[in-house]
Amino acid sequence: MSPLSNLAVRDVETLIHPYTNLAQHRETGPLVLERGQGIRVYDSNGKDYIEGLAGLWCTSLGYGNEELVEAAAAQMRKLSFTHIFGGKSHDPAIELAEKLKEIAPAEISKVFFTSSGSEANDTQVKLVWYYNNALGRPEKKKIIARQRGYHGVTIASASLTGLPANHGDFDLPIKNIMHTDCPHPYRGMEAGESEEDFSRRLAQNLEEMILREGPETVAAFIAEPVMGAGGVIIPPKGYFPAIQEVLRKYDVLMIDDEVICGFGRLGTMFGAQTLDIRPDTVSVAKALSSAYQPIGAVMVNEAVYQAMVEESRKLGTFGHGYTYSGHPVAAAVAIKTLEIYERENIVGQVAAKAPHFARRIQGFADHPLVGDARALGLIGALELVANKETKAGFTKPGVAAKLASLCEAEGLILRAIFGETLAICPPLIITEAEIDELADRLGRALDQCEAWVA
Ligand code: PLP
Repeated sequence: MSPLSNLAVRDVETLIHPYTNLAQHRETGPLVLERGQGIRVYDSNGKDYIEGLAGLWCTSLGYGNEELVEAAAAQMRKLSFTHIFGGKSHDPAIELAEKLKEIAPAEISKVFFTSSGSEANDTQVKLVWYYNNALGRPEKKKIIARQRGYHGVTIASASLTGLPANHGDFDLPIKNIMHTDCPHPYRGMEAGESEEDFSRRLAQNLEEMILREGPETVAAFIAEPVMGAGGVIIPPKGYFPAIQEVLRKYDVLMIDDEVICGFGRLGTMFGAQTLDIRPDTVSVAKALSSAYQPIGAVMVNEAVYQAMVEESRKLGTFGHGYTYSGHPVAAAVAIKTLEIYERENIVGQVAAKAPHFARRIQGFADHPLVGDARALGLIGALELVANKETKAGFTKPGVAAKLASLCEAEGLILRAIFGETLAICPPLIITEAEIDELADRLGRALDQCEAWVA
């Protein structure tokens, strides 16, 4: 192994890296990135990489977008910060809230701003509890999430997340949060079962869970349209309509976590529109600002908003908010981002490029290492298996992580996620020729990985 560079040594001696094997990092050191342009980033040696995961599913407009830089600089010059506590306000927060209401995938009444997806989903949990207290139903507090769902890492949102690494030894999940089935056709469908039958079976399991817990105790259900970090899992046909029929029956709120799917990822403005979700509340972040600024939001319907108004009347305030809720610079950048999505027809372009992306990703289905190759819009994944017939995993751990590191050597940044799966989620501005380049680099890495596994 080559000795670590000076920068790498300083990194190892100072930084705690999120989602990193900290012990291994001391040996391998960091990949230090220096600049970005379009869909590419460049390391400190000048090597280029296609950012095949759009950062962390977020840099939808890619790198070096001068309009977004300008929007931030102009707002910083004008009013770099003012909070919106105690009724203070400013133009960018108002305008962004109006815009989000206009494009939301449901009848949205009001918008609450956060700085991240985790904060948005933490807020969702608190609002569900607040809402039911306001309605005089203090026992209706349980929230059902899904195994392998990803909703963030703060205490409540990590509890919603259904992945072992986010619970193990963190003493999570907290009480009143439970997890129902993961709607994974490749792993979950039984022989001879149709996608629609699988959806009905999952809805029935959900109903049984609600009845077991007592419907008067179940308040909300939270889901990503397509699960991201839990494996890029595209639900079976008819899934959300079947699930929501059950939710309506027992007066359970539907929380739509659009943190990845929001703003065009699936070829519609929101994942809800592609997958027929009728949410009561919605979480967004990431592509809201194309990651040029940290910003997220929770959008709520009129019933939830009215409950908040009543509680604040009773208690004297709505006692929740972050210093940076509605940060003017982040809001100004988000407004510009949404303007670019509209002006450049980014969502329509995703829909137009999606078949080519799907063809290239699904083209890997024949590779000996690939059990399932799936894609929808501009998100996809390769699930790796040792045996394509039995779908059995490898005896050697970390095959997807190895593939990600081989991709990196080929000049392609992708991410190994739960279930020996490699996630692909490029910036929305990627062209068809760049999709081909991404797929070619991935193909070379896959072949090298096959040799490594053997
Ligand atoms: N929800 C979903 C669907 C996500 O993918 C993520 C992050 O990847 C989050 C919530 C948490 O967002 P953040 O990392 O900004 O806290």
